[in-house]
Amino acid sequence: MLSPTLISQLRSIVGPDGVIDGAEDLLVHAGDAAEADAHTDVLVHPGTGEETAEILALAAKEGVPVVPRGSGTGPSRGSMAREGEIVLSTARMNRIRSVSAEDLIAVVEPGVRTEDFHRHVEEMGLFYPPGIAMDRPATLGGNVGESTRGLRAIKYGGTRNFLMGMKVALPTGEILQTGARTLKCVTGYDLPRLFTGSMGTLGVATELYLKLLPLPESRITTVAVFNRARDAAEAAARMLEAGVTPSILELMDRTALRAVDKKTGAPFPRDAGALLLIETDGVFGTAESQAARATSVCHDSGAGEVRRASTAHAVEEIWGARKAAFSALAEISPATVLEDVRVPRSKVGDLVGSLRALVEIEGVALAVFGHVGEGRFYTVIPVNPAIEEEIERTERIVARLSEEVCSLGGQLGPERSVGVGDRTFLDRNTPPEKLELVTRLKKAFDPKAIMNPKVRL
Ligand SMILES: Cc1cc2nc3c(=O)[nH]c(=O)nc-3n(C[C@H](O)[C@H](O)[C@H](O)COP(=O)(O)OP(=O)(O)OC[C@H]3O[C@@H](n4cnc5c(N)ncnc54)[C@H](O)[C@@H]3O)c2cc1C
Repeated sequence: MLSPTLISQLRSIVGPDGVIDGAEDLLVHAGDAAEADAHTDVLVHPGTGEETAEILALAAKEGVPVVPRGSGTGPSRGSMAREGEIVLSTARMNRIRSVSAEDLIAVVEPGVRTEDFHRHVEEMGLFYPPGIAMDRPATLGGNVGESTRGLRAIKYGGTRNFLMGMKVALPTGEILQTGARTLKCVTGYDLPRLFTGSMGTLGVATELYLKLLPLPESRITTVAVFNRARDAAEAAARMLEAGVTPSILELMDRTALRAVDKKTGAPFPRDAGALLLIETDGVFGTAESQAARATSVCHDSGAGEVRRASTAHAVEEIWGARKAAFSALAEISPATVLEDVRVPRSKVGDLVGSLRALVEIEGVALAVFGHVGEGRFYTVIPVNPAIEEEIERTERIVARLSEEVCSLGGQLGPERSVGVGDRTFLDRNTPPEKLELVTRLKKAFDPKAIMNPKVRL
C-alpha cells in the first residue's frame, strides 16, 4: 500500500487528473497479454519528460518501485505492477513532434500508438517498418521496451534497427539524451540499443528519434494454400534460397486458421491445411518479379492454390486475419500456453512436421503460426487449468517441444527480452558471469533498484 503523502506528492507533480488510485478506475489498466488481472495501487500519467524525471526522483527518494506502462499488450508481464509499486503510464505523452521527409527522421513521444504512427508517416509517403504482429494497440515506447520486430523484420529489421536516439528519464531524476536525430551516430557506447528491450528496467523513454524510409512504390500480397504445414514451411525456406526477399513471410496452420475464421470470418479457403502469407515490395517491377518467383516456388513445393490479393480491402483482410491469430486462439479455451520457437530457418519444416506427430499422439489442438521466414514461430496450446490431466499434457508437450527445438540447434523461450515468467529459462541459458555483469550495469543506471524490479534481464 502506498502512503497518502506519496500519492499527494505525485498529484502535485502531474496535477489532480494525472493520478488514478480508485480501485475500479485502476482495473482497466492492470493486466497485459499474459494475465488479465493484476494488482495496481496507483497509476500516474506524466505529460512531459520533466514530470517523468520528477516522479522517478521522488520514487527513488522514497524507495518505491516504478513500472513503466504503454498499452499493456506485452506478453511478458513487464508492464504489470505488484503491491506497493507505482505504474507510470505514457498515455499522455502521445504527440508526434515532427516528421522530416528530408532527413528521414521522426521525433515522437513514447505513448504514440504504433499503428497511428504508421498511418501518419505513410500519408506523407514515408515508411516505418517495425511494428507488432497482432491486433492490439501497442505504443512506440512499449515497442522499444520489448524490442519489437513485427511482420516486416525479415527484410527491414526491428525497432533496434530504427531507433536512432532517445531521451530517457533516469531513476536518478536526470534526463539523458542519447544517440542522435541523424541517420548516423557512431561515437561512444550505443545506449539506444541498450535501452531497446530493457523492459523499463533502466529508465523511461520520453522521446524517440526514429529512422524512416521512403514508402515502397509497390506492395503485392500473395497467399499460397497447402495441405500440410510442413510443406508450407519448406516452401518458405526454398523461396529464400531461390533469392526471393519478401517483406513479409508468415505461416498459419489449420488450427490457427480455424480460430481466426471463427472470430472474424477469415478470407481463406475453409479446407486449407496451412497458408503462406507473402508480401513483396519495392519499385513496381521488383515487387512484381519477386512475387512471381515466390508463386512459382510455392507451386513447385506442392501448393494447391496461389493467389494474389487484388484490392486494398483484400490486402487489409488478409493481414488483419494474420494479426488476429493470437487473440482468436486465446478465445477457444479457458487458457493458452504461448511458446516462442526459434530454429535455423532450414529446420522449420522438420520441426513443424514433428509437431504434427505430437499433436496426433496427444490429441490436442496445438496451433502454429508466425514468422517462418525468420525461423521463428509461435505454438499455442489450449489448456483448461482446472483439469489436472490437461496441465500434465501441456507440460509434456512443452518438454518435448523444448527437446526437439534444442536438438535442431534452436531456442525456445522469450522473444525479445526475459520477463518475469522466464526465470527458469534465464537461469538455464545465461552464464553466471553474464548475469553478474548485467546486474552491475543495472546498478549503474538504477542504483536504488526502483525500475521494474520484478523483471530480470
Ligand atoms: C501474441 C503476441 C504476439 C506478439 N508478436 C510480436 C511479434 O511478432 N513481434 C514483436 O516484435 N512483438 C510481438 N509482440 C509483443 C509486442 O512487442 C508488445 O505487445 C508491444 O510492443 C508492447 O507495447 P505496449 O505499448 O503494450 O507496452 P507494454 O506492454 O505496456 O510494455 C511493454 C514493456 O515495455 C516497458 N515500457 C513501456 N513503455 C516504456 C517506456 N516509455 N520506456 C521504457 N520502458 C517502457 C514496460 O515496462 C514493459 O516492460 C507480441 C505480443 C503478443 C502478446
